[in-house]
Amino acid sequence: MDMDRAAPRLSRRRLLKGAALAAVPYALLPDPRAGAQPQSVDYPPAEWRPASTANYTVSDRPGAYAIDRVIIHVTQETYSDALAIFADPQKKVSAHYVVRSADGHVAQCVREADVAWHAGNWGYNTRSVGIEHEGWVDRPEYFTDALYQQSARLTAAICAKYGIPRDREHIIGHYQVPGTDHTDPGPGWDWVRYIRMVNFS
Ligand SMILES: [Zn+2]
Repeated sequence: MDMDRAAPRLSRRRLLKGAALAAVPYALLPDPRAGAQPQSVDYPPAEWRPASTANYTVSDRPGAYAIDRVIIHVTQETYSDALAIFADPQKKVSAHYVVRSADGHVAQCVREADVAWHAGNWGYNTRSVGIEHEGWVDRPEYFTDALYQQSARLTAAICAKYGIPRDREHIIGHYQVPGTDHTDPGPGWDWVRYIRMVNFS
C-alpha cells in the first residue's frame, strides 16, 4: 500500500465532503442533539426505554411477518416496575409499548420491527404490536382518561401505519390469544369507548 498516495487522496475527499456540507442550508442538517439519545422510537411522542435484547426477537417486520393485530395488556405492575422487568435479561418478557396510568405517558421498549414477547404465543407475537397499560385487571380506576386517550392515539397510529382495521377483530385483549390463561385487560376495560377513540384519533 502506498501511504504517500493514499493520504492526500483521503484529505481531498474530506475537503470535498466539507465543501458539500457547507452548501447545505443549516436547517437541513441533523439536529446535533439527536445523537445524544438513541433514535429508536417508532412513535414520536414515545420515550425510548429499551427492553433487554434478551427479552425479544430481532426481526424486520413487516418484511418477515405481516402485522395485523394490536394486543392490549394490563401490567399487573406499576409502570416503573414493568419497565424494570423488561430491562432485566432474566425475565424473558417484553412489550413494544407501556402506557402510564396517571398521565398517559408512552414508553417504547421494543422496536415495532422486532418481535416482543408479550402474547405467550409465537404466532400472535410475530403478527402483533403489544401495548401494556399500567394497572390491574381488578382496579379499573387505573384506566384514566389520559391513559385511554394516549393509548388510543398510539393504536390509531399503528393501525394507520400497517393498514390494520380499527375493530375488535384486530384490536384484541391478551385474553383473546389462543391458549392463554391471562385475563387482561379484564372486565374494567371499556372496549366500546376504546375502539371509538381509536377510530376518532
Ligand atoms: Zn397481557
